[in-house]
Amino acid sequence: MSDDRLDANDPVGTTPHRLVIEIITLFPEVFTSFLQASLLGKAVANGLIVVERTNPRDFAPGRHRQVDDSPYGGGPGMVLRADPVAAAIDEAEGRRGRAHRLLLSPSGRLFDQKCAAELATRGRIMLICGRYEGVDERIAHLYADESVSIGDYVLAGGEVAAAVIIEATARLVPGVLGCGESVVEESFSAGRLEFPQWTRPPVFRGLGVPEVLLSGNHAEVARWRRREALRRTILHRPDMIDRYPPTEEEGAMLAELEETD
Ligand code: SAH
Repeated sequence: MSDDRLDANDPVGTTPHRLVIEIITLFPEVFTSFLQASLLGKAVANGLIVVERTNPRDFAPGRHRQVDDSPYGGGPGMVLRADPVAAAIDEAEGRRGRAHRLLLSPSGRLFDQKCAAELATRGRIMLICGRYEGVDERIAHLYADESVSIGDYVLAGGEVAAAVIIEATARLVPGVLGCGESVVEESFSAGRLEFPQWTRPPVFRGLGVPEVLLSGNHAEVARWRRREALRRTILHRPDMIDRYPPTEEEGAMLAELEETD
């Protein structure tokens, strides 16, 4: 814990860091504006979230600092070498200690809200970003605690995937969001999508808002929202209904929905 307190964000060591994020990336500049904006920017500025970037290129040998090489066995493209990536990881952990290491990879476990909630409690995580055709497999074997994918598509590099994981994880760290409530009630947290929301003006291009939301009856509003969350989930994500079967109340709501639709 003590070394956590010695950094530029918190020179006097008064802020208890809630999450330290180490990024291993060939393109550290990709994260700069992202880490400055909005609530994440505030959390970084006040030291609640500490982000360090380490570039494998700084550890690559030779005048050209080459980090990639052609794949053994042949084939198109280049592979990110294991040695500069390993040296960057060692350097980063030499500064702050062992982190939970995630390798970004389309072959990894699918990242989801549960995974974000788990990472938010880790204290110290590392995101290892690949490029080119991917990272030499020995990094997965020797260094990664797990490989993580953000979805079934192929990106050009791990940086955007790392940004997704940072944003989803950081907002679950206590104190990062303004309103503590909002993480409890949102999509995925209870196995359902979130209910729809409206704000002023009361009529926009001829469209009003559901009457019940203007009623001031909190219990009725809450029940209506649970029902709309259920309706949306059935419509867009029936797989979630299979994984999180309806509660007793939802069973009654399902009957209502069938009658009205
Ligand atoms: N040839 C590889 C793709 C390499 S893409 C394959 O077919 O599996 C280059 C890098 O981008 C990867 O090493 C990984 O770090 C990152 N990346 C690409 N798609 C990703 C995804 N869906 N999730 C997480 N990282 C991804």
